[in-house]
Amino acid sequence: MKIAIIGAGAMGAMTGGRLAKLGSEVTLIDVWKEHIDKINSQGLLLRYKGDSGENIKIRGVYSAEELGETVDLVIVFVKGIYTEEAIKAAKSIIGPTTYVITLQNGVGNADIIAQHVNPAFVIIGTTTSSATLINVGEINDTTEVVNGQYTSHITPYIKNDNEKILDIADLFTRAGISTEVSKDAELAIWEKLAVNCCANATCMVTRLDLGTFSNDENGFHLQDKILMELVNVAQVKGIPLNYTKVRESVKKVFLNSTHHPSMAQDAYKKARTEIETITGAVVREGKRVSVATPVNETLYHLVRCVENNYEKLWY
Ligand code: NAD
Repeated sequence: MKIAIIGAGAMGAMTGGRLAKLGSEVTLIDVWKEHIDKINSQGLLLRYKGDSGENIKIRGVYSAEELGETVDLVIVFVKGIYTEEAIKAAKSIIGPTTYVITLQNGVGNADIIAQHVNPAFVIIGTTTSSATLINVGEINDTTEVVNGQYTSHITPYIKNDNEKILDIADLFTRAGISTEVSKDAELAIWEKLAVNCCANATCMVTRLDLGTFSNDENGFHLQDKILMELVNVAQVKGIPLNYTKVRESVKKVFLNSTHHPSMAQDAYKKARTEIETITGAVVREGKRVSVATPVNETLYHLVRCVENNYEKLWY
C-alpha cells in the first residue's frame, strides 16, 4: 500500500516510521525542510519511551507535488490549524480511490478534509497513541499499550460499508497501533475531546501544569463546568457521552500530572494553537444544536486573544 503522511512531526513521523518498518511504501510530507533533509540523509531516529531507538529509512518530501503520484492512503497529522492548507495542497496525490484518514485531536478536521476530497473516502478516528518530537529527525514514541485495549478507533466519515477501512485498521494494528473499526468511534472522539478541553485552554491561559490546575479547587470546578457543557452538546447531537465516566478519566489522568499540555507548549513557542478544533469545536457544535456553552466560549476567546497578542504579553 502506498501511503503519504502529511505532517511528519511527532505523530506523523511515529506512525510513518512504524508503517515503514512493516514494509509499507511510506512518504513523509512536511514543510519543515531541515527535518525532512535530516530524515532523507540520516534516516528517522524512532525511540520508544526513551530507549536507544531504531534508525528507519523512509522518504521525506517538502510537498505533495514533489511526491508526484497518487497514493492509496493519505494520513493527515498536521495540527488542526493547518489542516485546510495541507489538504488543499495535497490534490495531486489524491486519486479517485485514495482514502484520507485523520486521527488528529479535536472535532472539525474531517469536515474540512471532506470539503476538498470525496467524503465517501474520508475516515475519522481518534488515538491514544502518543509521541514527542525530540529533535530534528528524532521522535520518541510514548504510546502506552494496554493489553486488550485498542489505541485507536476509526469509522467512515459518511456511514458506509466500505471494506477497505478494515484493511486500514489491520495495517495500523500490525504496525503496533492497535485499531478497531468501531461504530462508537465518534463517542471515543468526544471522550478525548473532553480530556483535551479540560487540559488545554485552561493550562494555556493559567500557565499552570495539569496537576497544579486540577488540584486547585477553582481549576477542578472549572473542569466540571467545561465537561457539563460539553456532555450536554454531545448528548443533544446523539453521542452518548457519560459525564461521570469522563469526569473520572479526567481526574485519573490529570491529578498527578506535571505535564504542560500542547496548547500551553504552543503558547510558550508563540505558535498558533488547536483551539478551533478543541474548545472552539464545543462552542461551534453547541451553537449548531442550540446548547449554551458560556464557560467553553470564555476560554475560547481568552486563548484567541492571547494568541493574537503574543508579542504584547508582559511576561
Ligand atoms: P507536530 O507539531 O509535532 O507535527 C505537525 C507537523 O506538521 C510539523 O512537523 C509541521 O511542520 C507540519 N506541518 C504544518 N503545516 C504543514 C503543511 N501545510 N503541510 C505539511 N506539513 C505541515 O504535531 P503532533 O504532536 O504530531 O500532532 C499532530 C496532530 O495529532 C494534532 O492534531 C494533535 O493534537 C494530534 N495528536 C497528538 C498526539 C501527541 O502525542 N503528540 C497524540 C494524539 C493526537
